[in-house]
Amino acid sequence: MLKRFFEYYRPWMGLFWLDFGCAVLSGLLELAFPIAVQGFIDKLIPAGNWTLTLLAVAGLTAIYLINAGLMFVVTYWGHKLGINIETTMRARAFEHLQRLSFSYFDKVRTGKMVARVTRDLEDIGEIAHHGPEDLFIAIMTFVGAFCLMLWINVQLAFVAIVIVPAMAFLTSYYGGRMTRTWRAIYSKIGNFNVRLEETVGGIRVVQAFANEAHEAQLFKRDNAAYRAAKLAAYRVMAGSVSLTYMGMRLVQVVIMVFGAGLVLKGELTEGGFVAFLLLTGAFLRPIEKIAAVIELYPRGVAGFQRYCELIDTKPDIADGPDAKSVDRLNGAIEIDHASFGYATDMPVVQDISLSVEPGETVAFVGASGAGKTTLLSLVPRFYELTSGAIRIDGIDVRDMKLESLRRQIGIVQQDVFLFGGTMAENIAYGRLDATRDEIAQAAHRARLGELLERLPEGLDTVVGERGVTLSGGQKQRVAIARAFLKNPPILILDEATSALDTETERRIQRALDDLAKDRTTLVIAHRLATIRNVDRIVVMEEGRIVETGSYEELLAKGGAFARLDAA
Ligand code: ADP
Ligand code: MG
Repeated sequence: MLKRFFEYYRPWMGLFWLDFGCAVLSGLLELAFPIAVQGFIDKLIPAGNWTLTLLAVAGLTAIYLINAGLMFVVTYWGHKLGINIETTMRARAFEHLQRLSFSYFDKVRTGKMVARVTRDLEDIGEIAHHGPEDLFIAIMTFVGAFCLMLWINVQLAFVAIVIVPAMAFLTSYYGGRMTRTWRAIYSKIGNFNVRLEETVGGIRVVQAFANEAHEAQLFKRDNAAYRAAKLAAYRVMAGSVSLTYMGMRLVQVVIMVFGAGLVLKGELTEGGFVAFLLLTGAFLRPIEKIAAVIELYPRGVAGFQRYCELIDTKPDIADGPDAKSVDRLNGAIEIDHASFGYATDMPVVQDISLSVEPGETVAFVGASGAGKTTLLSLVPRFYELTSGAIRIDGIDVRDMKLESLRRQIGIVQQDVFLFGGTMAENIAYGRLDATRDEIAQAAHRARLGELLERLPEGLDTVVGERGVTLSGGQKQRVAIARAFLKNPPILILDEATSALDTETERRIQRALDDLAKDRTTLVIAHRLATIRNVDRIVVMEEGRIVETGSYEELLAKGGAFARLDAA
């Protein structure tokens, strides 16, 4: 898995080495500083040479300035490396996500999905940058400082090293607790977001039932839980900060006592003493860094695992190796002993056979749950047949490139999904490269002209989130305009007008009739009055076809259709 992770560094190796080199140099300069101070105190001051002293001060200043520059590079370019990797991964995750099949989205929870593309990747970005750099530098400074301490005074160095296990224990103990408290906070934020999303999304229901106080109560509970989680985290943080501080100072005190003794005995110079104290800082600080990386690591790994899981999820439905791109088809549909079920042992479509001529209109009727929507969703291959085949112009849909297959089919459903942009943008979703004229024409043919004249900004009117500013009938007409723009040879209308009142339905029906002209049309009808004139009616029950015929034929027969009509 580590190998897979390093794949993502490959495009940024230049950046990586720049960052890494500067970090190493900066670490070395940090170590050089105490030694310079030692020389300053022990050699320069006693020599009493002012010019030399000033020169040395100038040298030290230069070291500081260089180090400041290096720190800038490390902080900026290092994070740049992390965000570059994060961005690549996020784009890939999004692209992949969109290609996954309906069957995947039937199961997945949106909140989790969003977390994968946002927070998980942030964790990975952090570890991508801090992991190699901080860990390496921390170990380097730690070892380097200890060597220098040994060089200054062996006895004192051993006094200092005794404290390391205690410090390491302290930091890792607190690191672990910190991780747990942060995880708790994240989950509380998750609850919060879900609640907020639901309340805002369902605000019409909330207000209609006057349940604002109830919602506020629930929110208050989540808010309080979040506060408690944060307080717990701050308590841990406070303990960690004060104990770490105490530990560091304690070490210095102990070293001061021992060091002073050594200086009095003449075994250590004053400069060595000061340098040693400074080195103690450089020696202990990396422990915290190492602990931080160790703490970050599991989060990064977990995030990367979830990312890989997403990337590795193969779409159930994808182009086969020999899939062909089809140009505009005539629209002869042949459903040949087709069966399908969402779960393996629960068939929803059972052994259906049906041939539809190009340009023919066939209506599907039957009780709710009979499998009408499911059957028609097999034509654009939203789901894969368990047995049988569906062919268009004699070509199995599984042998067509998905994109080219779906370009042949226009769908208008009962629930129209609009995006938050303008009318024009929403209509253009039917064909992204449509010109303004084509959009206007499609709108006109969908009977949107009158509405657009009334709207202050016409086609440029913003429709609000999911199109909330439009009525059901208006949204329906936007969907019809999309289909006009797409101009496909095959049309699927799934209860397109059943949510509308009869008057609106009648008007929209005319637009739909125009749209259906010269196309193969499969229409699922709720109100039987709307399908009086179709070429053929198919009656479905429990996933099977029970009757086919014209409106009059079926009525005269007095079977399932007649019973539906009477209901
Ligand atoms: P109709 O359109 O005739 O009302 P559907 O095709 O929508 O019927 O549904 C047929 C059956 O399949 C129903 O029992 C329904 O509960 C089930 N079903 C529909 N969609 C899904 C889905 N995405 N996942 C699982 N079961 C589904
Ligand atoms: Mg349905």
